[in-house]
Amino acid sequence: MEKMFINGKWLHSVNRETRDITNPANGEVITNVADGSEEDVKLAINAARSAFDKGEWTETSARSRADLLYKVADKLTNRVEEFAKLETLNNGKPYREAEYDIQDAINQLQYFAGLATKPKGQTFDVPEDMQSMVVREPVGVVGQIIPWNYPLVMAVQKIAPAIAAGCTIVIKPAEHTPLTLIKLFEIFDESGFPPGVVNLVLGPGATVGAELVRNPKVDKVAFTGGTETGIRIMKSAAETIKKVGLELGGKSPNIVFADADFETAVDHALYAIFSNQGQVCSAGSRLLLEKSIYDKFVPELVRRAQKIKVGPGLMEGTEMGPLISENHMNRVLNYIDIGKNEGATLLCGGYKLEDEELSRGYFIAPTIFTDTTPEMRIVQEEIFGPVLVIQTFETEEEAITLANGTKYGLAGAVFTADGSKALRVIRKLRAGITWINTYHNTYNEAPWSGYKQSGIGRELGTYGFEEYLETKQINISIRPKPSHWFGNETS
Ligand code: NAD
Repeated sequence: MEKMFINGKWLHSVNRETRDITNPANGEVITNVADGSEEDVKLAINAARSAFDKGEWTETSARSRADLLYKVADKLTNRVEEFAKLETLNNGKPYREAEYDIQDAINQLQYFAGLATKPKGQTFDVPEDMQSMVVREPVGVVGQIIPWNYPLVMAVQKIAPAIAAGCTIVIKPAEHTPLTLIKLFEIFDESGFPPGVVNLVLGPGATVGAELVRNPKVDKVAFTGGTETGIRIMKSAAETIKKVGLELGGKSPNIVFADADFETAVDHALYAIFSNQGQVCSAGSRLLLEKSIYDKFVPELVRRAQKIKVGPGLMEGTEMGPLISENHMNRVLNYIDIGKNEGATLLCGGYKLEDEELSRGYFIAPTIFTDTTPEMRIVQEEIFGPVLVIQTFETEEEAITLANGTKYGLAGAVFTADGSKALRVIRKLRAGITWINTYHNTYNEAPWSGYKQSGIGRELGTYGFEEYLETKQINISIRPKPSHWFGNETS
């Protein structure tokens, strides 16, 4: 049984409960893990609080925090294959995607290690005999809550900047996918973090997650997950005026104009929605097609979607794996029924794969709907699976109106050969992550997050680092003297 890591020790949950962790490719139990409750979180928060307030962590230099992150990155570099296999086993994603994720996590550790020692303060020229300056300090104890679609990357992109900044953390992975994060904590354990600096709690969002948000000893909550959960978290965090970072859902438009390079646009339209089984917050889940290329574009898109090799992520040649769980698969299948009932036309997919080998897993065929209208639920709501909806437009203005026509604003792309048009459209998109003539490329150097109901704050890059820093002004008199505000006594 895998345990939690609290105050430098591997612990079972206080209530001794466990949770089975299953392989979504076949429904089999891989292992079981401790399943915590509020009591475990409180222990972890107390440890993080004490390490921040009076432990040796407060005395560390940025250089030594950077060294620790580099050490973790080096150790992870030696174990990429092991971590990638475990990620695939637990999450289902194809091995090649898992391998990419682990490399990305290593890059994040190195990036934030580098950033730890870079200049952060400011000085100001002010009137009087004063020097005014700003120093940046760690926010304090941070609660971090992670979804299941990128279990290790999402965790590291929160842990690395927090550690670089000098915070202490309590992190909770999603219920289904704790395994790679537990392994990462084995590396933390070997790497010499002082007790209480990094803490791992396991368990349900409604109890363990909720306590992390509610507890007054936590200074900031960094959350990635669904918008509905984000709303709950923001309300609860308001009780203690906690700083909140929210990375939420999306329904991102991928706009293809008739003058786009055909092969590039078709290829990216598939990649935008079907990578990671469509379980990507920034997925291009709405394809906005200029009407004049519809008849050429759609048959080719459907032909290629039907050729995607769906199978277990660890099987050679697999291009798309299973969804995360039976529940989630049923939720996606339900959306497919909703689409049919709303009158959209199903062009391909729309069913669970029942072949001999795949029937026990949670596989759904790549699915494409057309003949949609903007108010349909399949157009407005995040399905979070391999389901693409097509919308059509005739003018640039219409494309922009449709693109911005949901409550989300996470990502979006434009495909066109006209550079000016590309930039005009992108500048009108109400979204935080955008692409021109490509999709999904993202970089740890650049800020990540959404507009509208897709999030608050930023992760990654210097913007993401900022979120873990407080700002303190210090005013120093360079000619100390009484103010004489009250009375005017001289002794
Ligand atoms: P979710 O909101 O159901 O759960 C996310 C995490 O929150 C889990 O660890 C869960 O246990 C925890 N949680 C649930 N209820 C909670 C509560 N009341 N208090 C505290 N914690 C709670 O999301 P999910 O299904 O795991 O992930 C899918 C969602 O995540 C999608 O909407 C997707 O778009 C979003 N996502 C966003 C980004 C981004 O960067 N914007 C990245 C990945 C995923």
